[in-house]
Amino acid sequence: MAVDDSPWQPTACILCECNCGIEVRLDAGGTRFERIRGDKAHPASKGYTCEKALRLDHYQNGRGERVLRPLRRRADGSFEEIDWDTAIGEVAARLAAVRDTFGGSSILYYGGGGQGNHLGGGYAGATLRAFGARYRSNALAQEKTGEFLVNTELLGTTFVRGDVAHAEVALFVGKNPWHSHGFPHARVTLKELAADPDRSLIVIDPRRTETAELADFHLAVRPGRDAWLLAALAAVVVQDGLADGPWLADHAVGVDEVVAALRAVPVPAYCAISGVDETLVRAAAARLARASSVAVAEDLGIQMNRHSTLSSYLEKLVWLLTGNLGRPGTQYAPSTLAPLARATRPGGAAGGGPQLPVSPVTGAPIIAGLLPCNIIPDEILTDHPDRFRALLVESGNPAHSLADSPRLRQAIASLDTVVVIDVFLTETARLADYVLPAPTQFEKWEATFFNFDFPRNVFHLRRPVLAPPDGPLPEPEIHARLVEASGALDGFDAGPLREAAAEGRAAFAAAFFAASAADPRLAAVAPVVLYRTLGPSLPDGAGSAALLWAAAHRCAQANPDGVRRAGFGEGLDAGERLFDAILTSPSGVVITDDVWDETWRRVATDDGRVHLAVPWLLDELAALEAEAPPGDDPDWPFLLSAGERRSYTANTIIRDPGWRKRDGGGALRIHPDDAARLGLSEGATARVTTRRGSAAVLVELHPAMQPGHVSLPNGLGLDHDDVGQRVVTGTAPNELTSGADRDRWAGTPWHKSIPARIEAVTG
Ligand code: SF4
Repeated sequence: MAVDDSPWQPTACILCECNCGIEVRLDAGGTRFERIRGDKAHPASKGYTCEKALRLDHYQNGRGERVLRPLRRRADGSFEEIDWDTAIGEVAARLAAVRDTFGGSSILYYGGGGQGNHLGGGYAGATLRAFGARYRSNALAQEKTGEFLVNTELLGTTFVRGDVAHAEVALFVGKNPWHSHGFPHARVTLKELAADPDRSLIVIDPRRTETAELADFHLAVRPGRDAWLLAALAAVVVQDGLADGPWLADHAVGVDEVVAALRAVPVPAYCAISGVDETLVRAAAARLARASSVAVAEDLGIQMNRHSTLSSYLEKLVWLLTGNLGRPGTQYAPSTLAPLARATRPGGAAGGGPQLPVSPVTGAPIIAGLLPCNIIPDEILTDHPDRFRALLVESGNPAHSLADSPRLRQAIASLDTVVVIDVFLTETARLADYVLPAPTQFEKWEATFFNFDFPRNVFHLRRPVLAPPDGPLPEPEIHARLVEASGALDGFDAGPLREAAAEGRAAFAAAFFAASAADPRLAAVAPVVLYRTLGPSLPDGAGSAALLWAAAHRCAQANPDGVRRAGFGEGLDAGERLFDAILTSPSGVVITDDVWDETWRRVATDDGRVHLAVPWLLDELAALEAEAPPGDDPDWPFLLSAGERRSYTANTIIRDPGWRKRDGGGALRIHPDDAARLGLSEGATARVTTRRGSAAVLVELHPAMQPGHVSLPNGLGLDHDDVGQRVVTGTAPNELTSGADRDRWAGTPWHKSIPARIEAVTG
């Protein structure tokens, strides 16, 4: 593997979906990031970073416990190192035994990548098919699946984004882009919005966040009551005659049903429930309606909260009723190089909800091909014959990241076989029967499929900037070995395809399609076949990028005009040129250059129009009136937001607490009035108790919190090595959460409004 020895090497930040381009300079030993700066050549981020990227050496060289050899659990519970042949042989044999005894459907796959690493997971499908596995899940299924479902119902497409940078009005719902980002140059864009008297920023968030501080309208909703507020906001649009009737007549169906439902919303009462002054709600609705363009972004504040799918729907009704789709500064549907999630096609509303595939034990809806994370323990801890028996985890840490960690640990411990592919000995890896070590994200070819830019969409294939240590194998190699050990490629001779690849990609394409037609088994494990045949011919050891060859061709076929405008020509050559550009653009490349009408081409409803009425969500809207909103239970006087994004939080990827410049222990934020009432001072210790658990936490007095609302950061409660001792820093949020607290449709958890008690710890 070639490692560039120029002083500055391009790569990307791996701490949020923006994946800003960065350049790193190594120290004299070639192992540490001596300096990090934004990469001006990156087509999307253009040199921008936030503070997090500059401390990435704590990921690469931090005090997390690195795994360098395959590990096997001994009978006494400890691990022993084994060689790769033994590990692959035993893992394949155990997965095959589970498949042969209980069926491949009893093998669950979790993960496939985080904020910076999706390339390896792209090969996992081959492994799953080789062992007959059908079910998978990952973090998207505890955050985004409700929104995916709503987008698909309304527009027939999974991903819809807001063009915040060019909007006259930006609306953020349960989102603080100052810390969660979500679009390029987030802080610059927010400041520009705030400084321009002709533009407006509207924020719906219980906290007075950094973004809310910049806002023209801050609708400080009471925690967990977003659905009432969003219903009121959408209702004002209808009741005050602010909807864009001509646009709706041209572009939407189901308008009458939605208008009727929103006319029935008691706006004053819902504003009162939400805790937001009715005048402010009406003023925000009027501002949205009179804007020439509105871009909207929702995030975990509603996606991990009560009524999350309904809230997503109501948020989208606000921008659809005001005609904000498919124009600059509004919403768009991006192109993709490789889809991040499978398309969901609900099959109508019979039976009171969307008709979706369901999980084998609990019958939970599977959205975008993903099992709801919250139901995973219920799919294991049962004597149901179709329960999961084996778990393959790749680049994920469900034992820490998913609701009710104690129960998930119990579920994992009950499985026949648990295999974890990871860089570090994570909380989940410690529960595994086998741990298969991978290089860090800076030691291998890597990429994400978080490609949502518009109109110029960007893909960045990152080169390794450090030599990997001896021992770990990149995920594509692990999957290739597992597939080969499964027997799925027995008798397949890779030689002729390799020879064709050495001749050139035209020869390879012809040979590959001929081989696939002659041997249908190859299609099922195509990523591994590409890796083993095309991979060795790729320059600079870029074999892991082999599956991007197929992705580039699919992208060129699906987006011929955008790919042509991006400079890659037409027809089959366009896919080849796009693939070449990906391989030879170390700072990333524009893959499509769209026009706004492309969004309408990607609207995939049967008639190409917006299907505004979603009957099962309109039923849930109607039922809000009779529901007691959360937060008034004297036994649980606080609502806890578990997993707040802060300046130095990053899910679970950085295990070294030293990376946090501030808030090292991950304090509980509490309003000063609440703290005074409880006798808590800054830095004091409090006990937070939920129905599920209890933890001692440090206290931070924070006027941005509402009285009655407290928050804990995400990514805390990880352990690290401290001079031979394993030390845990902060509180793991999911020791306090319950799997049963979840959205009725998407199964996404209610982490942002957990009933809690707080008391001072004395002595
Ligand atoms: S964490 Fe900051 S630097 Fe890193 S990708 Fe996100 S916005 Fe960019």
